[in-house]
Order: sequence, then structure tokens, then C-alpha cells
Amino acid sequence: MKIFEAGEHSKAYCRDCRKMVRTTFARRDVPFKDGRGIARNVLVGVCDECDRAIEVPPQTTPALARARKAATQAIEANLPASYIDVLDCAVLRIDGQASTDFRRALLTYFVHKAAIDARGGTLLLMSYRKAIERFPEERGIARRRLSMKVPPRVTEDFRRLEDSTALNTTELLKSVVFLIQVRVLDDPRPRLMEELRALSAIWA
Ligand SMILES: [Zn+2]
Repeated sequence: MKIFEAGEHSKAYCRDCRKMVRTTFARRDVPFKDGRGIARNVLVGVCDECDRAIEVPPQTTPALARARKAATQAIEANLPASYIDVLDCAVLRIDGQASTDFRRALLTYFVHKAAIDARGGTLLLMSYRKAIERFPEERGIARRRLSMKVPPRVTEDFRRLEDSTALNTTELLKSVVFLIQVRVLDDPRPRLMEELRALSAIWA
């Protein structure tokens, strides 16, 4: 693998200039393609003609992966207070000593399970319908804000499920909280509870 230095040249195809161009390596702040996050001060090949970063040398890959991991994002929703109560009860049921921050682990766990399950979308749509029945939203109902910082991988799980269910983030959270209500509070299976308690034990 050739290690490039800033100021060295290479050749690459520039999509903006629509031709092969000479590039110059330079350190730049590069936003991720999906717009979520930025990798700072990484070595990239810049088009000599239009000055855009068009080439990523192999040596930059680890730095990009690190930046990707560090770029945490917030999942936010304004939920009827009952949902937050359910979540807090579930946390308490799993581990009396867990902090409220364990909510984040619990939601992430269920979202990830649904995201990797082929029937996850269908399950969540069903759960959403039941949630709406169980917690009807009258005008003036008390609401509480749920905000959690999560790594991009988790955001990707959310996006994938939002795409497959056509639910928005708030609706998806309602659906997941209802699922937690059923699986942790109403009808807890020993095996799942064991798994969640193990998760709580390693969650600092
Ligand atoms: Zn160009």
C-alpha cells in the first residue's frame, strides 16, 4: 500500500468535471455522504480543477471508520407520558439498580432485534396499532421528551425500520415501547429477561 503525503499527486475520475483529472492530496474535513457527521482533517485527493475531494486513499479508511463511530446522533421524540412510564417500569423490572439511562440500551436492543428480523417491520406495525388503542391520545395529554444519543449504527437501524414500516421516529418509538410493555411487563419470558439482565449488568 502506497502511503501518500499532502502535496503529492495522483489521477482520478472527477464526477463534477466528468473526466480524469490530476488530484493533489490534502487534509480536509470531509462530510459523510449521508450528511450525518464529518471526518476531520483526513487525507483525501482533491481535484486540481474544481477543488472537490474526490479520492480517498486506503490509508485514510481507518480514520474514516473512527470518525463514523464517534459521530453519535440523537434520536428524539415527544411522547405521551404513559410511554415513558412503561419504559421506566420495564427498566425497573429488569434491574432495580439500573439508571434511567438503561432506557437507551433497552430501546436500542429491541430496535436492533426488529431491524435484523425479516418480520420485524410487520411486527412493529402491529404493535403500533395496538399501542394507539391502548394509549389513546386525547387533546392536552401530558407529554415527555425522550432524547438519546446513539451511535450511527443504531440510527441506521431506525432508518431501516422507518423505511420498511413507513412509521416516523415518534411512531416507531411508540411501537417499540409497546413491544417492551408486552415482552417485559405483561408476558415476560425467562430467557429474554435473563438476556436483558445480562445487558443491564454490563451497561455502565
Ligand atoms: Zn473536478
